[in-house]
Amino acid sequence: MLEVDRITTRYGAITALHDASVSVNAGELVAIVGPNGAGKTTLLNTVAGLLRPATGSVRFDGNDITGAEPARLVRAGLALVPEHRRLFNDLTVEENLRLAGCTTKAHERRQRLDEASELFPVLRDKWTTSAGYLSGGEAQQLAIARALMSNPRLLLLDEPTLGLAPTLVDVVFDLLVRLREQGRTMLVVEQNATRALRLADRGYLLRSGRVVTTGTGAELAADSGLFDSFIGTAS
Ligand code: ATP
Repeated sequence: MLEVDRITTRYGAITALHDASVSVNAGELVAIVGPNGAGKTTLLNTVAGLLRPATGSVRFDGNDITGAEPARLVRAGLALVPEHRRLFNDLTVEENLRLAGCTTKAHERRQRLDEASELFPVLRDKWTTSAGYLSGGEAQQLAIARALMSNPRLLLLDEPTLGLAPTLVDVVFDLLVRLREQGRTMLVVEQNATRALRLADRGYLLRSGRVVTTGTGAELAADSGLFDSFIGTAS
């Protein structure tokens, strides 16, 4: 479904990704892990069209989407849950969701809102609350619900558990399990590396902008030597 082929992405003189290749097949949950500054967010933002790679290509469903406009990518079936959520804090939960669904037909939008209130009971109870008043866990669920409003075939999640209390981390991981059970394809960047890899079909370890190891989630999660040498260290 997604083929990222040897992309190099730069911020001015800083090369954040070097020749990185990642693929995601339909129905898979793929985890990207690695230390701070490894290039994980850069990778997701390049796929989502927020950054344009200097070299390499991104293909989605066989079509070249390298450097395509983010809005076009949402229409093509790709949605990003960005790091730090980036909600409209002055708008209510419902308004955030309606805004995200404004390009879909009215009956589809209604269906998606119903699905959101079923999948996220916490949000149903806060439907008319401004997003700025939500707790971290609630806001993260709203960010995921918002991305689902376009019914994406590929969901990109950037650090969905960042800054959450342990019980809320559990809520978000349970949610990933449920989305996977629904057949949703996901590419997830996660700081809870071992836990994400245990859940993932496959994983990639990034370091200093390069893919240094790839394998099944179980293989990578079990490789403690690998983790000791990367996680918690500078890139
Ligand atoms: P973290 O877990 O800390 O978010 P990450 O693996 O997501 O790290 P990126 O945020 O992709 O890493 O950053 C990769 C490299 O690019 C780092 O060296 C970072 O300092 C640099 N970088 C990221 N954003 C910018 C920017 N806007 N301008 C310049 N350099 C940047």
